Amino acid sequence: MLNVDLHCHSNVSDGALAPAEVAARAKAGSVDVWALTDHDEIGGIAEAREAAAALGMRYVTGVEISVTWAGRTIHVVGLRFDENNRDLAEGLKRTRCGREQRAHEMAAQLAAVGIPDAFEGALKHVGNPDLISRTHFARYIIETGACKDVQEVFANYLIEGKPGYVPHRWATLRDAVSWIRGAGGIAVVAHPGRYDLSDLELDALLSEFKQLGGAGVEVVTGSHTVDEYARFARIAQQYGLLASRGSDFHAPGESQTELGALPALPPNLTPVWHDWAV
Ligand code: AMP
Ligand code: MN
Ligand code: MN
Ligand code: MN
Repeated sequence: MLNVDLHCHSNVSDGALAPAEVAARAKAGSVDVWALTDHDEIGGIAEAREAAAALGMRYVTGVEISVTWAGRTIHVVGLRFDENNRDLAEGLKRTRCGREQRAHEMAAQLAAVGIPDAFEGALKHVGNPDLISRTHFARYIIETGACKDVQEVFANYLIEGKPGYVPHRWATLRDAVSWIRGAGGIAVVAHPGRYDLSDLELDALLSEFKQLGGAGVEVVTGSHTVDEYARFARIAQQYGLLASRGSDFHAPGESQTELGALPALPPNLTPVWHDWAV
C-alpha cells in the first residue's frame, strides 16, 4: 500500500513543529506521499517541499481553508495547486485577517471565568503572528492547569456556548473552492464527521460543494472514528467524490494520530491521488 498522508500542520499555523520537522516525522512514519496543510496559510510550502525532497518523499502542495457555510465552520483542504497563484494567496491573506482581534475577545471571555492573560499566554505558542488560533489558547489553558489535555479544553472552553468562543466569518465555500481550482488544485471537504451535520445538512453541503467544482472528501482522518471511515466511504461513493486520507497531525503527544499511522482507505473508492502518477 502507498502510504499517503494529505493533512497535517506545522508551526506556520497551529502545529508545534517546523515544516521540515513535520516532514521528518512523516518520513519516520513511512509516508510515501505527503502534503502539509496549514490553516489558511501557504508560507510553509518552500521549506516543506525542500525537506521532503531531501528525504526522498513525494510531496504535493496543500492548505486547509477555514470556511463559513450555513453559519458553521467547515474546513476545505486544497491539494496540488500552484502556490504562486495570486488569487489564492490574496484570498488566504483575507481569510487570516481578523484573527488577532478575535483572539483579544477570546482572552477577555477567558479572563472573566478566571483564566487571565490568555492573549499573551497563547501568543507564546504562536509561530506565525497572523495565525493565532484556538489551538494556541488550548495549549495555554493546559499550562495554567485548568484542563489536562486538548480534548478537555475543547469540551469546556473555546466552543459555541462555552467561555472563549468568538464566532468568526471565514471564507465562503464558493471562494475557497474557486481559489483552489483557479490555482489548478483539488478541493476536498476535510473531516466531514466533525461538523455535527444532519443527513439533510450534509447532503446540502456535499451537493453544493460538488456543484462548485469540489472533488473530494476525507474518509480516513485522525478526526474520524472507525465507524465514520465506513460511513464516509459510502458517502464518497454515493456522491462520486474522490477519497482522501490524512492524519491531521498537530503536535507530538497532543494529536491522536501520528503521521502515516492511519489505516488504508476502504476498498472500492477512488483515491484523490489516483491520477498523480505516484
Ligand atoms: P481556529 O481556526 O482558531 O478556530 O482553531 C481551530 C483549530 O482548533 C482546529 O484546526 C483544531 O486544531 C483545533 N480544534 C478545534 N476543535 C477541536 C477539538 N474538539 N479537539 C481538538 N482540537 C480541536
Ligand atoms: Mn488545527
Ligand atoms: Mn480541520
Ligand atoms: Mn487540520
